[in-house]
Amino acid sequence: VPASHLRRRPADIIGRADNANHPHIPLPRDLYGPKRRNSRGIEFGERAALTKLVSAIAAEQLAPAGSIAEASDAEANAAVAAALDGFRDWSRTPASIRAAALEKAADLLEARAAHFIALLQREGRKTLDDSVSEVREAVDFCRYYAAQGRELFGEDRALPGPTGESNMLCLRGRGVFVAISPWNFPLAIFLGQVTAALMAGNAVVAKPAEQTPLIADAAVRLLHEAGVPVSTLHLVAGAGRVGGVLVMHPDIAGVVFTGSTEVARTINRALAAKDGPIVPLIAETGGINAMIVDATALPEQVADDVVTSAFRSAGQRCSALRLLFLQDDVADRMIEMIAGAARELVIGDPCDPATHIGPVIDAEAKQRLDAHIERMEQEARVHFAGQTPQGNYVAPHIFELSDAGQLTEEVFGPVLHVVRYRADRFDQVLQSIERSGYGLTLGIHSRIDDTVEEAIERLQVGNIYVNRNMIGAIVGVQPFGGHGLSGTGPKAGGPHYLARFATEQTVTINT
Ligand code: GLU
Repeated sequence: VPASHLRRRPADIIGRADNANHPHIPLPRDLYGPKRRNSRGIEFGERAALTKLVSAIAAEQLAPAGSIAEASDAEANAAVAAALDGFRDWSRTPASIRAAALEKAADLLEARAAHFIALLQREGRKTLDDSVSEVREAVDFCRYYAAQGRELFGEDRALPGPTGESNMLCLRGRGVFVAISPWNFPLAIFLGQVTAALMAGNAVVAKPAEQTPLIADAAVRLLHEAGVPVSTLHLVAGAGRVGGVLVMHPDIAGVVFTGSTEVARTINRALAAKDGPIVPLIAETGGINAMIVDATALPEQVADDVVTSAFRSAGQRCSALRLLFLQDDVADRMIEMIAGAARELVIGDPCDPATHIGPVIDAEAKQRLDAHIERMEQEARVHFAGQTPQGNYVAPHIFELSDAGQLTEEVFGPVLHVVRYRADRFDQVLQSIERSGYGLTLGIHSRIDDTVEEAIERLQVGNIYVNRNMIGAIVGVQPFGGHGLSGTGPKAGGPHYLARFATEQTVTINT
């Protein structure tokens, strides 16, 4: 993209910064201005500085993106053996030094934001907005886990006990953690998993999604530069097979995984079948996320929030809205407004700042989505079908189902399914959400407190958003992760995450 074109639109970029939800956390100045400790409460950057960032991204687009070799089984096994070696020193490295390395990594990320943004656009096929937000989220993960880790792992905790006895609770790294991450947040989720495991004192072998290894490679090099020893953090690139080799290794002490429910089950089964120590799995998976809209909701806000939740990032977020329950009195009007807002979306090159929706990740994803759309065209009522450009693009679609049960699995793309409900059948709406077995995100648009409370109390859902959109959880603000088929917990970017990467040791000394 020519820099001149990018330079024309800085106002647009400011206007569309992620988390319009959180106007107090706009596009952080950290990315292109003076260094700050975190992204909260920072004001919009100066236009000149933003223009500079945008040209820097354009320059990065011109450089070769890089290449990486797929690891053999022997190399994957060697990485675990090397990490086991690295673990010995790292687990004894004071928490303050581990935290300082993470903070240094955050500083480096900010300083090289343009490089990472360009890589996210090119390899991850993400729009400028999404790429900027993702760098910010990655920075936030580093700083948040560093701050949490200083507290949690800083000093062993003295416990009360009888006179003549000292009792201490010590949290330590478990050993070698295998981190398997997805392509949809190739920087933020990759770094979130890795930095949490490192902060807790583990060595890490990271296996990024096969679609996005270059971003992971850049992130690992950055952590090494920030002070994480090369022996402690290893990158192993390749397809699912490589992840399988790592999971089956007898010397690993934990697995953290983000991806599909099906792969989480496969990992779980493999771990359970293995001899040796019982290895914990921390999994964050998908969802058939619902939003409930009743007749008291504000239509303009609903249209905006539905379009953001269902179509932003081409629907390739595990938090994205899939199933919209509309109260029948307002359904026609709402559908018309949502379709109208969807029609405004610009679909195209992710490197063009004017683009709202880029391509889906690869041809396989497109094929899967196209097949689903074809099925829906037969089985459902079509309310909206956007114009799909040539390439791996999938335009937004809106289908109306006669029954929520028609949607049995997560459809990972910009396809919204609508179901009407009668106000006196609200209970059936809650039942059908429960029946799916998933519990990741839920949206509610209603001005009736009882309705909102009932949904919150009844549904086992990890992240509930009331009268706003339902994507873009912010580190430390909306800890993220679900229940049931959606994952094991704990929540990423929350206060209980790090402890699950550690072992607890109680030491009692007779004094
Ligand atoms: N945390 C992201 C959000 O709130 C979603 C993460 C994912 O898609 O895995 O939108």
